[in-house]
Amino acid sequence: MDHQTPTHIAILPSPGMGHLIPLVEFAKRLIHQHNFIVTLILPTDGPLSSAQKTFLDALPNGISHILLPPVNFDDLPNDVRIETRISLTVTRSLPSVRDVLKCLLDSTKLAALVVDLFGTDAFDAAKEFGVSPYIFYPSTATALSFFLYLPRLHEMVSCEFIDLVEPIQIPGSVPINGRDLLDPAQDRKNDAYKWLLHHTRRYGMAEGILVNSFKDLEFGPLKALQEKEPGKPPVYPVGPLIQRDTRKDDHNGLECLQWLDKQPSGSVLFISFGSGGTLSHNQLIELAFGLEMSEQRFLWVVRSPNDGVANATYFSVQSQNDPLAFLPKGFLDRIKGRGFLVPSWAPQARILNHGSTGGFLTHCGWNSILESVVEGIPLIAWPLYAEQKMNAVMLSEDLKVALRPKTNENGLIGRVEIANVVKGLMEGEEGKMLRSRMKDLKDAAAKVLSEDGSSTKALAEVAHKWQSKICT
Ligand code: UDP
Repeated sequence: MDHQTPTHIAILPSPGMGHLIPLVEFAKRLIHQHNFIVTLILPTDGPLSSAQKTFLDALPNGISHILLPPVNFDDLPNDVRIETRISLTVTRSLPSVRDVLKCLLDSTKLAALVVDLFGTDAFDAAKEFGVSPYIFYPSTATALSFFLYLPRLHEMVSCEFIDLVEPIQIPGSVPINGRDLLDPAQDRKNDAYKWLLHHTRRYGMAEGILVNSFKDLEFGPLKALQEKEPGKPPVYPVGPLIQRDTRKDDHNGLECLQWLDKQPSGSVLFISFGSGGTLSHNQLIELAFGLEMSEQRFLWVVRSPNDGVANATYFSVQSQNDPLAFLPKGFLDRIKGRGFLVPSWAPQARILNHGSTGGFLTHCGWNSILESVVEGIPLIAWPLYAEQKMNAVMLSEDLKVALRPKTNENGLIGRVEIANVVKGLMEGEEGKMLRSRMKDLKDAAAKVLSEDGSSTKALAEVAHKWQSKICT
């Protein structure tokens, strides 16, 4: 679709690589398929991590970015939850967001301001300047359906959701036990819940919501989301939009890829807990022994343990200490040749695309799941925080593309359980079935993203709306 003056949109990702990465993929589609230009407006609460810097330095032509001045969090208690901190990063940046929007509007027409799940406070600024507010929802349609349902559910239920005897019927989804709902819904007194409710009450202000999913993954929730209701914005399933890196050469300086090159096809289990996931020290030890006992090949992104906090590196990505120092004595020698360790951050898209990778033990972040689907890699589901337990239920019980190890009476996943699940995935009959189902999903993902596919069409519909807005 060629237009002489490119349509310009602004995207405001809230903190977290899991938000920035899919929003940039979304921006790439707009510039490549619809000749748009995109400005990323980035709220911050301190210096960027090296992973963020590298990522932003590699943005293609057509996407520019503006770093907002860091907000101050000196007044926040140490145990503040990530949803509160993410929301406040956006809210406290609003004066700078207004300045940037004003500046952009002086030189160009802006068709829309797109925020992600916790960015709805920026809608006020968008409305002031006559810019259309949109949401790009980087998680599941099931979680989005829950978000849209929460304001009603909040009025109907006065106790904690975990205390409900009956499971919760999120529109279009299989019934979900209160304890499996996303973290910020687990404690109604906590500010994180209040922020969640605040945002979900504002979702109706959006002129449209794009969701990073597709019907073969979440048929029921997407169908329910697309039913028209007063106050519900139109929902566009545009997924899977993921970072994909299919370069087969240029492994220079990337030792983990060079190591993968030497392993047999489909033989390596990749282990990563996303950008923020950390384990307790005891759990880290169990995982190390479990991997050793499994006798399988593995590539593990290791972070320093952080007892009591499952998302300790969410804002920084990098571990503060040397993560390898926390592994069992002699572990590195014993796994030499069979296991490869990467501290803190690895090129996940390239690892999942590598022919030697045959399985993925994941914390069930939605981007990681979509990346595995697109590459057809079966999973071990090890959820840690946010909506990851809901995702793990979907993967293991509904789609049946993941094995889920069991937690023991001490709240840990023990080494024997880990070894059995890893063996089951990599060389068992069950693993073969999961792999075959993942292959079907991989084919379905390719189809929805093809020229005539449903996700391509949904994105084109939104792009067309934005283009016509600028032309009028
Ligand atoms: N990621 C990566 N290298 C790492 C860890 C994560 O490239 O070592 C990328 C991963 O490919 C995904 C994103 O960071 O695109 C993490 O998003 P996800 O939704 O899986 O989890 P989150 O970090 O938001 O919990």
